Amino acid sequence: MDDKLLTLLRGCTNLPSPPAVATRIIELSSCHTSTLGDVADAVGIDPALSAKLLRMANSPLYARQRKIENLRQAITLFGIEGTLNIALSFSLTKSSENNSASGLDYNMYWKRSLASALLCQEFGQRISNESKDSLFLIGLLQDIGIIALDKAVPTLYSNLDENQTSHAIFCEQEVEVLGADHSKVGAWLLSEWHIPEAILNPISNSHLPLNEDTRNDVDDTSRCVAAACLMADIFVADDIESAIFNAINNVEKIVKLERAEYNEIIASVSSNFAEMANMFEIELGDKQLLDSILDQAKEILILRNLSKIRETESLQEKTEELKTQTRELELVSRHDPLTGLYNRRHFDQCIRQEFENSKKYEWPLGLIFIDLDHFKQVNDTHGHAAGDEILVHTAKLLLDCMRDTDIVSRYGGEEFTVLLPGIDKEGTEIACERLVNWFRENPARLQNGEVIKQTISAGAAICFGEKFYRDWSQLIRNADEAVYHAKENGRDQYCIFDLEQRVTPKMLAS
Ligand code: GH3
Ligand code: MG
Ligand code: MG
Repeated sequence: MDDKLLTLLRGCTNLPSPPAVATRIIELSSCHTSTLGDVADAVGIDPALSAKLLRMANSPLYARQRKIENLRQAITLFGIEGTLNIALSFSLTKSSENNSASGLDYNMYWKRSLASALLCQEFGQRISNESKDSLFLIGLLQDIGIIALDKAVPTLYSNLDENQTSHAIFCEQEVEVLGADHSKVGAWLLSEWHIPEAILNPISNSHLPLNEDTRNDVDDTSRCVAAACLMADIFVADDIESAIFNAINNVEKIVKLERAEYNEIIASVSSNFAEMANMFEIELGDKQLLDSILDQAKEILILRNLSKIRETESLQEKTEELKTQTRELELVSRHDPLTGLYNRRHFDQCIRQEFENSKKYEWPLGLIFIDLDHFKQVNDTHGHAAGDEILVHTAKLLLDCMRDTDIVSRYGGEEFTVLLPGIDKEGTEIACERLVNWFRENPARLQNGEVIKQTISAGAAICFGEKFYRDWSQLIRNADEAVYHAKENGRDQYCIFDLEQRVTPKMLAS
């Protein structure tokens, strides 16, 4: 609060002030040696207040099996501090005249404050150790600054009209005109009344920013008051549904409760509201509204649960999408885009793995290297696109010719590999022969109708356990050397690398 506002408030002669009985009670509140008798004396001066205390003691909020019949029993029930708080709640309510000329709707103000008091208790039971009666008093007085401001600046709320159901609009108006909102003004007024700090501080904090810092760093009682302030709108709103929706959305930012607890809170406040309003002489208007609040709260909480479920579902969808993307990425990273065969990268992984398996289980591993014959000429004669078609055709022939357990890859350019786990020299040789024949017998038919005969040269190496090969790269080198020999010998043939003889060219009869 700046000095200007403070001067304005200090200069105001009709600020609300506590009645005599309240002043005495405040005195007793700040004195730690007050006795039950002192409290009974102070309250007893005001018969109306005593009656209210008795009524409160027998209300559903405090109800015991035994009926509370006199003030002394009530004070024993509430405790000294409780009695003082409750007495203050009663004596400070309507401590000012209703100045309807200002435009502020006082009944609505007190109705909202009562809701706030009851809500504050409810939140307190769940997240704070503060006593029930202090929470009630704090909630009840948390907006007292509005009354002070209404007295000090009578035009302040004159243009609010029906907007008085929204607390946020009050605050906006105050900040716009005065640069501060009523929470600070209220705390100041109560300090002028010598209200204890334990009551005053949470009121000063009642408009907390709705964020995680508040949730983690601010004391429990202040968060109770702030939450009560947010929820109180429900009890004065015209559009109950959206008030409940907004309130819960906002409260969740500063207080963590189970969803069912919001329902319990609204249910409890709604069911006590009429009785309390009566005790505090607050006009309730349409009492059926309270039932309607409860019903709508239930519905909205169900809807919120549904929307939570939908959120979870869409999250699952996103996860699925990501999985698909990952699968697609994997596909891309393992496959050659032109032919769809495994790429070099994947082949390298496979040969490492299969080499280890061959060592471990002592089973053979065949590797065939395949190189297209005079492929450069195909490109030169028919064009690069035709070359690509041949490569695709090659991939198809390789896959047709090999078994599912064989791993066919495009090693690069016009070079292909086939890994044959568990296949020995004899089996690999048969596979080579089949391959060379298969290419001979199946010329490529291009899209333009041209038919191109494409032969291959193949070279194979076979490792059997660890006996001869220490390293998988040796297997590749040997297969490569075998291809070289097949080329040397005239192409369109295969050659097996023999560890004893180095290479064994196998000419195929044409
Ligand atoms: P050789 O019988 O000795 O193997 O002769 P070659 O012409 O097949 O061998 P060389 O290594 O001289 O040429 C390979 C050709 O393969 C050259 C290159 O342009 C072509 N090539 C490599 N990758 C692709 C491709 O993705 N698409 C097309 N169309 N051609 C490719
Ligand atoms: Mg080549
Ligand atoms: Mg070639």
